[in-house]
Amino acid sequence: MKCIYCNSEVELTSSDIITYAITGAKLTKSFVCKTHNAFTNDNYEKKYVADLDFFRNHLGLTTRDGKPIQYKADISIDGTEMHNVKISNRASLYAPKDVVAGVDDNGHKILMAPMERINKISKGKATAVDISDVTLHKTITADSFLGFYAVHSVAKMAYEWYCYINNIEEYKTEYKDIVDYILGNTDGDFVDIILERNYYFAIDQLSEVGTNAFFQYDDIDGYRYVVFDFWKTIAYRVRICKSPNGVIPEIKSFFFELYLYHIDGSKTKTAFGAYPLDGKTKPAFITIKPEDMKIDLWREFMKRIEKIMSTMVLSIYTLKKEVDLISLKLKKYDEGKIDVAQLLGFEENNIVTVIEIISLLHANKDKYDKTKAFNSNLPIILNLRGDTIGRTIEDKEKFIKTLVERDKSKTLSEYIWQGIFTFQEIYGYEMKLINQE
Ligand SMILES: [Zn+2]
Repeated sequence: MKCIYCNSEVELTSSDIITYAITGAKLTKSFVCKTHNAFTNDNYEKKYVADLDFFRNHLGLTTRDGKPIQYKADISIDGTEMHNVKISNRASLYAPKDVVAGVDDNGHKILMAPMERINKISKGKATAVDISDVTLHKTITADSFLGFYAVHSVAKMAYEWYCYINNIEEYKTEYKDIVDYILGNTDGDFVDIILERNYYFAIDQLSEVGTNAFFQYDDIDGYRYVVFDFWKTIAYRVRICKSPNGVIPEIKSFFFELYLYHIDGSKTKTAFGAYPLDGKTKPAFITIKPEDMKIDLWREFMKRIEKIMSTMVLSIYTLKKEVDLISLKLKKYDEGKIDVAQLLGFEENNIVTVIEIISLLHANKDKYDKTKAFNSNLPIILNLRGDTIGRTIEDKEKFIKTLVERDKSKTLSEYIWQGIFTFQEIYGYEMKLINQE
């Protein structure tokens, strides 16, 4: 094995082919030398990932030691704007363990903390704000997805994935152009964005929010490409090398083997094709250079990106993680140590959604087919399409109201415990099924 950037045989290190921070499914191989691993990490990936913290948090990705990802956002509280506030979840705003810090419109520092604590810090000069009126906003900038750091990180991932999937374990001159681009020696149009509506229609059926999907193909221009579909938001097409098959002008249809890397750590494979309906030979996809992206086109991508905030990716593993956390909180609630607001994480999306799901599982227990996998049962029981659940803010608020009423009538604890027990039973069935395979 040699470094796929320089053929060095010494100090080869394990490279995260898909940048660790954006995937639940790790993909590594020791085919990059220490120098080049550090180069791509320091020059592109660190900056790229920092821009995505907000989305990483919403997808439930964590730090290497399992902590929630912190991000910076703007919040308005009781009429005051606070910018660049560090947040990890709603509880960090409503029941802060630390002082919440940000800056106001004039760039002055603002601190927020429980009154008792802030009075000590400010020597009595603090004013009270009503934190029941908090809105959080995050500006999605195109640069996070289309800028220099993003496209170079994407090129690196595509090239390493290509080497990985094709068992390439050394640098070859046919990859000189893409390698020079990744190493910053040359500039060029190696990364573009797929605009093709048919493509997004197809991927929407095959992938899910948070999944990274890759495939390779030869196009009619005689180049070999890797397409990297990022979190089901944007598909990047990266030019890897000249196609070993040369220019084949008569290609009329394309067949792709799609590799999917899911947020819950699982990996799957599927296939799809592209066929021009008029039978004429055309490139597989309509694409655009990142720097040519226009605002009206970008709006379409924004809609896809925004789905991250309103979607929860459902798998037995992500649910198990959340249910375990809710169990711990529910014990504290039963002991009177926390109230209903704290139990619900101040209306944290994941907590409320999971309580709703496990309650539905409990209510529809009879319909659950033990001989089938969780993912095949889920759509029937929850009456949904696909593996994600997306609800409107109104739905969520309605459900929270019923929970608060149950709290008042002292039936909330039993209601959630029933859901937890049913889920644990189902989790047991699923582990049995997996072990039988
Ligand atoms: Zn190297």
